[in-house]
Amino acid sequence: MTKAFIVGHPIKHSRSPLIHGFWLKTHGIAGSYERIDVESVNFGDFLKSFHEQGFAGGNVTIPHKEAAFSGVARRTERAERLKAVNTVWIENGVLWGDNTDVLGFMTNLDLSLGTGWEQHVDNALILGAGGAARGIVAGLQDRSLKRIFIANRTIAKAEDIVRDFQRYSAVELVALAWDDLDSALGQSQLIVNTTSLGMAGQPPLNLDLAKAPGNAIVSDIVYVPLKTPLLAAAEAHGLRIVDGLGMLLHQAVPGFERWFGVRPEVTPDLRALIVADLESSK
Ligand code: NAP
Repeated sequence: MTKAFIVGHPIKHSRSPLIHGFWLKTHGIAGSYERIDVESVNFGDFLKSFHEQGFAGGNVTIPHKEAAFSGVARRTERAERLKAVNTVWIENGVLWGDNTDVLGFMTNLDLSLGTGWEQHVDNALILGAGGAARGIVAGLQDRSLKRIFIANRTIAKAEDIVRDFQRYSAVELVALAWDDLDSALGQSQLIVNTTSLGMAGQPPLNLDLAKAPGNAIVSDIVYVPLKTPLLAAAEAHGLRIVDGLGMLLHQAVPGFERWFGVRPEVTPDLRALIVADLESSK
């Protein structure tokens, strides 16, 4: 029986076991996907010993993604770029790490908007400069955009992203202070919230969307609640929206395929299962 895990601290709110459990059942695989709570001091030992404990690999989440990056022996190119690992596995005795967040966000964007959406987007505005923002900037800078604005409360973190990522593409990266984002808002046809603002229990993200172009697309990677105050405001302004659940579902695909040997699909049934779970835990 193949076993996989999600390791983090805390971990009890993770929806990943539901997602992988759904796919195990769909494909009739006698495997398991377990939540494992490991504190930072013990994470290095866990990474070295999970294979002996019978696990093929697993997902790594907050606060261990950077430690996993340092702890694996080999990394994919996209994990190298992000300096964070969220998926680990053993291949020919070697511990590998990947980062599938980029793929999750971009696949969901492509499927939600249809291929060629970039033709209508010159500039993107990313709100936030944390771990998730790095993945989103990395994904978008491989597309044919002119400019990506990165606005963050702590501008130094936005400047770090510009410094770390500018070398990877010709798309211009511009760091902005939170108070200066209005002019960028007016020029950005894609607006993505990657801050924790708008998440249940957090203050809402207040943006004056009247200043955004009339054809702007607004995406929020926060998925609890599914329709964040930002997405509700965008809809009220007649703007297209992309919610955060698709990213979560699509980032899980490559890991499942690595550990269990079958490429799973993100289906309406899977989405409905997670939506029902989010609703029931309100
Ligand atoms: P993180 O590294 O802790 O970054 C948090 C970001 O939010 C930082 O830019 C931070 O700004 C900003 N922020 C927090 N409180 C703020 C406030 N009061 N005002 C303005 N900015 C504030 O977290 P992360 O890992 O990037 O995750 C961010 C969010 O994305 C979380 O809600 C997470 O659940 C969600 N997420 C979703 C997915 C998905 O699959 N849909 C995947 C990953 C993450 P400072 O730098 O100034 O502190």
